Amino acid sequence: MEKLVMIPGPTPVTRSIQDEMGREIQAFGDPRFVSDYKEVIDSLGQMVGCKGASFVVAGTGTLAMEMAIANVTKPGDNVLIISHGFFGDRFIEICDRKDLQVDVLQSEWGKIVPLTEIEAKLIEKYYAAVTVTHVDTSTGVRAPIQEIGKLLTQYQDTIYIVDGVCATGAEIENMAEMHIDILFTATQKAFGVCPGLFMLWASEKALARRKSFAKIPEYYVDFLKWLPVMEDPRKYFATPAINLVWALKESVRIIKEEGLKSRYERHEKHARAVQKALETVGFKILAEPAHRAVTLSNVIYPDGVNDLAFRAKLYELGVMVAGGLGPYAGKMFRLGHMGNITMHDIVAVLSVIEQALVSFGKPIKPGTAVGTYLEEINA
Ligand SMILES: *Cc1c(COP(=O)(O)O)cnc(C)c1O
Repeated sequence: MEKLVMIPGPTPVTRSIQDEMGREIQAFGDPRFVSDYKEVIDSLGQMVGCKGASFVVAGTGTLAMEMAIANVTKPGDNVLIISHGFFGDRFIEICDRKDLQVDVLQSEWGKIVPLTEIEAKLIEKYYAAVTVTHVDTSTGVRAPIQEIGKLLTQYQDTIYIVDGVCATGAEIENMAEMHIDILFTATQKAFGVCPGLFMLWASEKALARRKSFAKIPEYYVDFLKWLPVMEDPRKYFATPAINLVWALKESVRIIKEEGLKSRYERHEKHARAVQKALETVGFKILAEPAHRAVTLSNVIYPDGVNDLAFRAKLYELGVMVAGGLGPYAGKMFRLGHMGNITMHDIVAVLSVIEQALVSFGKPIKPGTAVGTYLEEINA
């Protein structure tokens, strides 16, 4: 049986995107590919309100995290990491390895770091960069990136880095309006493309910071190696992942066709409906209501449900979800609902969750979660 992939990335890949992956290869210098590549790069910049440069590079989100840090810091610099979970924490080791001085503000899982704590740190000392994860996939918490960006306008020499890997293309984001200097994501999350590419956007300020260093130790992720290619894709630095670029181009076309605003609204509406539906059948959502993401839900089990057995049951019934991380391993599952999924997928998933609950002895009337979901999206 086909399994519905409802983990927080990779997300389901629609047929028209799959077809791009299966196309006959072209040379990277073929004028047809060059024109496709250029179109993707330009569209992506417009999509997130980037006034600097857009990079589309083979690699995953983690490589984008490294690229962000590598280009705007030098050993000894202070970096402030605002972390709402596992992926926020990932910046700590990346920075440690580059001999940066790291201060970390960590929230309790499910909550956010208060703005007042961030402000207190910024007053205390100069930070070369501040990192925030827009949606931390381990907690389902959405950070107030607009408010943090506003705070940072008073610190013009600080580079504001936002990890959008589980957000961009689904959560409201705009670099110019939110004062973001570096934003990045990867193809397998809200863009609904297979894993393998990341997209990173750098503001003029971020590019200027890189140019203020003669060189950086990293080679593959150096902005200045890729910049000439992004400006003129006829140039070569390292081979572009041609079929993935085509797949991404199709994804961007789908996003434009839906309209970014409608896409944001769809994610919001369906996420809230899913979250309410799960609550009506006895689950709890880890993230506080005011800080819940629209891209995924981190769902805590009611008493008496075994994580491995529950997820195995869902799998048997055709749905794959992800397990909890860190302190929530074994206590919750993570359900992705981002990208190019439809109402039909969500109805199927909720009905399978109901069936699994019934099989574990929970007295759920079939249709309870599905009914709540349908009521909410039609409200
Ligand atoms: C998935 C994810 C990453 C890591 O991306 P990979 O493509 O797995 O390297 C980083 N940050 C967030 C918020 C993510 O969800």
